[in-house]
Amino acid sequence: MRIVQYYPVIALQDAVYDGPTTVGELKREGDFGLGTYNGLDGEMIVIDGIFYQVKGDGAVSIATDAQRSPWAMLTFFKPDCELTAPPNLDFQGLQNFIDQNLASRNHYFAFRIEGKARTLKTRALPRQTKPYPPLSHITPTQPTFEFSNVAFVGVGFRAPQYIGAIDPVGYHLHVLTKNRDGGGHVLEMNLESARICVGPIRDLILRMPRDEEFDDADLAKVD
Ligand code: ZN
Repeated sequence: MRIVQYYPVIALQDAVYDGPTTVGELKREGDFGLGTYNGLDGEMIVIDGIFYQVKGDGAVSIATDAQRSPWAMLTFFKPDCELTAPPNLDFQGLQNFIDQNLASRNHYFAFRIEGKARTLKTRALPRQTKPYPPLSHITPTQPTFEFSNVAFVGVGFRAPQYIGAIDPVGYHLHVLTKNRDGGGHVLEMNLESARICVGPIRDLILRMPRDEEFDDADLAKVD
């Protein structure tokens, strides 16, 4: 499996929230993934080739091919192992459990999780207006959503520690409720039960933006 990634995450951190890439183009790169939409308009979660959008008000919709993204990672998901989570894992416990089952922590992995959560807390970034504030100014007041006793499906990636300017390091998980009426970027969870399919990533293809906003961003100053 390979990841095709649209743009280093450091660009998002410096408020480059508009990209030229359409959902139609992203569909050619994978049927599984996560990201966001232009203007930082919610959370992208791609399951079985369907591009969902969880907006800042918590509503879930299916994105059109014409919508654009400033940041996304896609793969054609082919898991090569399936794990059953022990009961009562929180989000950190889930990460530790998957870590224990990985051949190495120096590669990317994709994982799909399906299960039931006793509690689940997510966020969905709200659409921004120009001039765009940096991401660090948005996250302290980001809308969050709490679910209890909810069935869900999630799309996640684990990025190695050394890759920080390119991707959020460690685990990044977006979920949708089974009923497709909520979801977002996972902040906290307590699992009742879950099955996790893990697939190793052999290649990372990083697409670089070709637009002025990225060209002019002062990325050298971003930590
Ligand atoms: Zn996210």
